[in-house]
Amino acid sequence: MICRTDPDAPKHRGLTAFVVPMDTPGVEVRPLRQMSGGSSFNEVFFSGVRVSDYGRLGPAGEGWSVAITTLGFERAAASGGGGTGGGDLFDRLVLTARHVGRDQDPLVRQRLAAIYAGGKVRALTRRRVTAALKAGGVPGAEGSIGKLAWTEAMREMADLAAEWLGPRFAADSGEWGTFAWTEFLNGVPGYRVAGGTDEVQRNIIAERALGLPREPRPS
Ligand SMILES: Cc1cc2nc3c(=O)[nH]c(=O)nc-3n(C[C@H](O)[C@H](O)[C@H](O)COP(=O)(O)OP(=O)(O)OC[C@H]3O[C@@H](n4cnc5c(N)ncnc54)[C@H](O)[C@@H]3O)c2cc1C
Repeated sequence: MICRTDPDAPKHRGLTAFVVPMDTPGVEVRPLRQMSGGSSFNEVFFSGVRVSDYGRLGPAGEGWSVAITTLGFERAAASGGGGTGGGDLFDRLVLTARHVGRDQDPLVRQRLAAIYAGGKVRALTRRRVTAALKAGGVPGAEGSIGKLAWTEAMREMADLAAEWLGPRFAADSGEWGTFAWTEFLNGVPGYRVAGGTDEVQRNIIAERALGLPREPRPS
């Protein structure tokens, strides 16, 4: 939990991070229902919760750094699995292309090849991040690049599957490789928000990797 511990400090200062045991009195977990049908994360309310200094993570007033570092690690881990643009997912997409008879279409092959190539680039970027972490560093803008590239690849895979399957992905007819895509297709918009939205990743890449002017700060 990131708490404002000094109300007089400017907005990024005066915050302190605490680890709060989930069985502390006053912690209430309310699952959120997603449009994909799942319920994989929650709203968490902290009503009158008391925490001791024992649970403090990092120095008092440095909670913003703790939050940014934690989010950096989350992004670095959210750049997709495998070296082929999503591993199993990409393999399943190729099998689906064969199943629906689209695997010999040159335009489809071109789009599949682009997803595959993007997956290889992401895998190399991930290795760069892992090497930096092993050397004791913290994830930088590479995490945002990986996460953004992964959500773009997922969007492209979802678009292809939806184009090929049309209404077949929405109803469970028992046909192989059709309804199985539903949860993924409904989940992709959420992946583009979770762990920091595409727009926010673009801002981070623009400001911290490309050195472009910072966006206006209203405060
Ligand atoms: C599937 C899913 C799982 C999640 N899991 C977790 C979890 O486990 N734990 C957790 O703590 N949170 C989780 N989240 C929450 C997630 O981290 C936030 O929803 C996300 O960071 C976006 O923040 P927000 O919802 O406050 O949107 P906002 O920040 O209010 O953004 C709203 C819109 O404005 C745009 N926007 C905001 N700021 C800027 C800007 N500066 N420049 C340009 N555009 C901007 C955004 O891109 C977005 O389109 C999850 C969300 C989803 C969808």
